[in-house]
Amino acid sequence: MTVKSTLIQALTSAPMNRLMGGLRNQCLPVFMLHRMQDKPLGVSGHNPDTLRAALAYVRQQNYHPISLRTLIEHLREGTPLPTRAVAFTMDDGFYDQAEIAIPIFQEFQVPVTVFIATGLPDNEWWSWDYKLEYLIMSRMKGGQKLHIGSQAWQLENTNKNTRRACLRSVRSFIKGQDGTGHDDYVDDISQQLGCDLPPLPPPAYRAISWSQARALESQGVEFGPHSHRHNILQAQSLTDAEREIRHSWSRLKAELKHPLPVFCYPTGRTGVDFGPREMAIAQHIGLRAAFSADAGYIDLGPDAKNNLFALRRFAFPEKLNDFRQYCSWLERFKEQRYVF
Ligand SMILES: [Zn+2]
Repeated sequence: MTVKSTLIQALTSAPMNRLMGGLRNQCLPVFMLHRMQDKPLGVSGHNPDTLRAALAYVRQQNYHPISLRTLIEHLREGTPLPTRAVAFTMDDGFYDQAEIAIPIFQEFQVPVTVFIATGLPDNEWWSWDYKLEYLIMSRMKGGQKLHIGSQAWQLENTNKNTRRACLRSVRSFIKGQDGTGHDDYVDDISQQLGCDLPPLPPPAYRAISWSQARALESQGVEFGPHSHRHNILQAQSLTDAEREIRHSWSRLKAELKHPLPVFCYPTGRTGVDFGPREMAIAQHIGLRAAFSADAGYIDLGPDAKNNLFALRRFAFPEKLNDFRQYCSWLERFKEQRYVF
């Protein structure tokens, strides 16, 4: 065990948590998960054992998992919250979330909200960023090159980490381009690699089906809108951005009994992937709040300064010690720059 992890364990021990409880009561962490690891289909993601350990920790340490509905009611109406509350979300709506993650949440009776990009279960589309992942992680050959404008990338070898680094670099380059042509870049890359993109997702990218979502809803899992085609909204025309938000909400209302009227912006960086225009649209169509993907706590208490349409979350960490830190007072202490 490293010095740092020993220190984190000591600082997040029960006596320290009691001592610093006042700081923790000013805030609440909402965790954001994406895909779950599924080795038979080659899906990378959160390790199910890490999720199980984190939820066991929540229960053992008497943190109080609450639903997003309860949290939003508190933020809007001031309804009371338990102390030491935490909340969990998952983005996109892939099969592994329903079949691997949700059973673990249910095992620990921890509420979870899934934000669905509704084009996925509608079988109309799969997102440019997942197509890019498929191409680079599964189809690009060692030594192959791809170009966008004057930029070029070459896959030195087929090692998974090399592929992942190439994917990150190409994805961040495409995200940085203006306009709406993310799908065009990916189509062009598929041609360069000599690989036809299947029109619908291959098995590793299968969506939660609507019937699965309905069954899970009846067991208490909540679902919220995450756009229809998972495009970066700020890069869209006003008409397209509005259609994306409105249509995903309509589809959820059509398929489910009581979807959560809380939006989640695709890719989610405030001021980069969405801005005041998208916040206004979400509010205008009657949604009650919206989440970004920016790291940070929800503020609680009389001095809370949340933007209800750009609420923050923490990416679910891969290390249990980091999870302990976000759950406890310690990350808040760091966030407020008292020390470190
Ligand atoms: Zn997403």
